[in-house]
Amino acid sequence: MATIREQCMAVKDYVIEMRRQLHQIPELGIHNPKTHDLICAELDKMGVPYQSNTVVHDGVQDTSVVAFIEGKNTDKVLMLRADVDALPVTEKLDVPYKSQHADQMHACGHDNHCAMLLGAAKVLSQIKDQLNGSVKLFFQSGEEIITGAKMVIQGGFMENPKVTACMGMHVWPLPQYKPGTVVVRPGCMMASGNKFDIYIKGEGSHGSQPALGRDPIACAAQVLSALQNITSRELPGDEPRVLSICQVHAGSAWNIIPDQAYMQGTIRTTSPETQAFYMKRITEVVEGVSAAMRCEGRVDWVDGTPPVMNDPAFTALASQAAREVLGDEFVQQDVQTSMGNEDFAYYQELAPGAFAFLNISSEDPETHYSVHSPTFQVDEDILWHGTALHVQTAVDYLK
Ligand SMILES: [Zn+2]
Ligand SMILES: [Zn+2]
Repeated sequence: MATIREQCMAVKDYVIEMRRQLHQIPELGIHNPKTHDLICAELDKMGVPYQSNTVVHDGVQDTSVVAFIEGKNTDKVLMLRADVDALPVTEKLDVPYKSQHADQMHACGHDNHCAMLLGAAKVLSQIKDQLNGSVKLFFQSGEEIITGAKMVIQGGFMENPKVTACMGMHVWPLPQYKPGTVVVRPGCMMASGNKFDIYIKGEGSHGSQPALGRDPIACAAQVLSALQNITSRELPGDEPRVLSICQVHAGSAWNIIPDQAYMQGTIRTTSPETQAFYMKRITEVVEGVSAAMRCEGRVDWVDGTPPVMNDPAFTALASQAAREVLGDEFVQQDVQTSMGNEDFAYYQELAPGAFAFLNISSEDPETHYSVHSPTFQVDEDILWHGTALHVQTAVDYLK
């Protein structure tokens, strides 16, 4: 009988073909109809049952697909997740399978995630009789807008039968490692991410008569520097965290003091406690400093994700699975937390899990561009590694 490794290598070309088809039809947000139909058509061919999500968000239909591979029982259910949405980026690659959608591109590589999971569906459906448990495959839309995971959870797919562990991965250019290396660590793998808006209301006046108004620009400057004190003076130095103000807007002319100022920024943390602390203190500092400057400050917190916290026991199992199916030289665990964020974190709040990076760089510098760049490119020859990691983790977890 063929080994798991051989069975995963056997779908290598299928995974590449699927990736190329998906690459041509990038779609944004939670509504990805062409992607949805392609996934369903492939699952139909394999005879794998699935359900489409029925959740509608702000009038938009979520098109995530959840497939189910039933093994001997449902005592243990492993969830394998691929995100499938794309970005509003104009592709600059000149490849035969270039994006056919203007100004939309799979620049974050989610086409690869989807293809690798389809490959896993194929292999797992062939060996389901050996699984002492079952597998759910989440083809999730809307990751880039940090909405999709919540839609799938709202659709009830973490229950009935209950998901008892979860696994996800992201392709990433990590040219310091061998092509196809799996990078995973216990604890915080990726940071939390929150976006916030700051509105400062003052009172407008002539530039020559500031005393007649309440200057929101002077106030914004004080708020901006006071906010940085939270990072440098109120949090211990040994924990990675970031607070960045990335937009500041106010005013319209050289001699008019405007009546309002606006700032926007993000925080990244590696623990839910620090995330909550930042949110509390940013609000207090904005309101307090603004009041001291005779203005009114307000913070609006837009949706954010918790940190991606890898369960130590499940991460040990997944990294052992990677060693088993790929070899020791293709696993790296001594890695730093990424300050990027991921909505996979929501699943990990409901079931222990692991999120890994898969190095898709080869020696070819064309494969070294970062995700989200218009020239992002992967070494397709190693995509079967992702399929193998999914499959072997399922086999080992469902022993
Ligand atoms: Zn992305
Ligand atoms: Zn991504």
